[in-house]
Amino acid sequence: AASQALTSQQVVDLTRQYNYGTWRFQRNWNPMHIADAEGCYLIDGSGKRYLDFSSQLMCSNLGHKNQAVIDAIAHQAQQLSYAMPGYATTARAELSQLLAEILPKGLRKFFFTTSGTEANEAAFKIARMYTGKSKIIARYRSYHGSTIGSIAATGDPRRWAMEPGGKGPGVIFAPEVNCYKCPIRHTYPGCNIACADYIEHMIRNESDVAAVLVEPIVGTNGVLVPPDEYMPKLRRICDENGVLLIADEVMTGWGRTGEWFAMNHWSVIPDILVTAKGITSAYVPLGLCATSEKIAEFFQDHFFSHGHTYEAHPITLAPAVACIHEMQRLNLVERARELAPYVEAKLNDLKSKHRSIGDVRGKGLFWAVDMVKDRTTKEPFNTYADKVSGKSLVVDQIAAKMLADGVTIQAWVSHFVIAPPLIVTKEEIDRGIATLDKHLTIADEAASP
Ligand code: PLP
Repeated sequence: AASQALTSQQVVDLTRQYNYGTWRFQRNWNPMHIADAEGCYLIDGSGKRYLDFSSQLMCSNLGHKNQAVIDAIAHQAQQLSYAMPGYATTARAELSQLLAEILPKGLRKFFFTTSGTEANEAAFKIARMYTGKSKIIARYRSYHGSTIGSIAATGDPRRWAMEPGGKGPGVIFAPEVNCYKCPIRHTYPGCNIACADYIEHMIRNESDVAAVLVEPIVGTNGVLVPPDEYMPKLRRICDENGVLLIADEVMTGWGRTGEWFAMNHWSVIPDILVTAKGITSAYVPLGLCATSEKIAEFFQDHFFSHGHTYEAHPITLAPAVACIHEMQRLNLVERARELAPYVEAKLNDLKSKHRSIGDVRGKGLFWAVDMVKDRTTKEPFNTYADKVSGKSLVVDQIAAKMLADGVTIQAWVSHFVIAPPLIVTKEEIDRGIATLDKHLTIADEAASP
């Protein structure tokens, strides 16, 4: 009752006064008051509706106010709101059984956390305990989370802020897969996937490599879809060199790319699959670290040295069951796959109209619009250094205009991520892209002719 008495301005002021805004300077943080949300829409304190064109942080896959998920949360809260992780609960049993059916074949033993980053931390520890080795090969232009281990494995500049004290040990970086702007200056398909060969070169020239960690399709850093040969080749390299393959499907899981998991596109089964976000469509915080049978077998007689108070928290697990059932009932994985050509055609149209777009790429309902100052040099409008120096970024200026027109979009350094809830309609896709179209003139004017 007390919170209903607050005006929108008070909500914003109190939020700013007592909270940190993340990945930004605090002084100019002016968060919008979100009072309500339904389906693909957010509703602010004044009642204005916003089409959510990136599913918040690419996580609200089912959209808001799904009654079955809400009921599952309420029911679980009434039934059993907490039991420590050493106990068995119905929610845990039901979700585990469902996951065993849905996850790539062979991933059969689960560790539940409350975030993506914790699920990655679990994966790293499990990989190290299982192999008895310490190094993780991660890739540049990746994001794996903000806690010490995960940020150390993050290949993008968000890692730099903690490097003065020394990043967490044991991570080395390989070049990312990026056919639009190949970091090792190759051209697909003539390259024969040299970026994967480079990882093999690293494994052979390092000692002590436990695992290779990849986002199957890189998310925040620009929806980098690997060529179809990449993942099978990486699987073979890992197998031949006795190294585990960890797939971080925190963003790509749960239908986002038009398969339940992105690894399914290439029929490649990782040794460890990490996910979060879409597992509950962000209704409640849940992460998952799923391991293969051989890893599960190992821990039968080796000490599993890991755990959390909120691990397998029943209120996080019961809605995941409801969420998966809703995705099945509404055929959302198929829907993401079927809408992909529609989005792709629209984005290609957009690219042909705007010289500031260097590339559009994606899969399912997961797309990037990559913005460049110059199509020949592929130079981005801004870099991360601009962001941390407080400069006004071109993509942020466009996102602000779109927000005023009632569309929220994820803008990151010099690209947009388009990832609407999987329940989105073609009309809503049209509206989101038309709103982007309208404001891209800001970038066109700043781009080379
Ligand atoms: N891994 C990937 C690929 C992500 O995109 C994210 C978050 O965006 C994370 C890990 C971290 O997840 P969380 O923010 O739930 O800790």
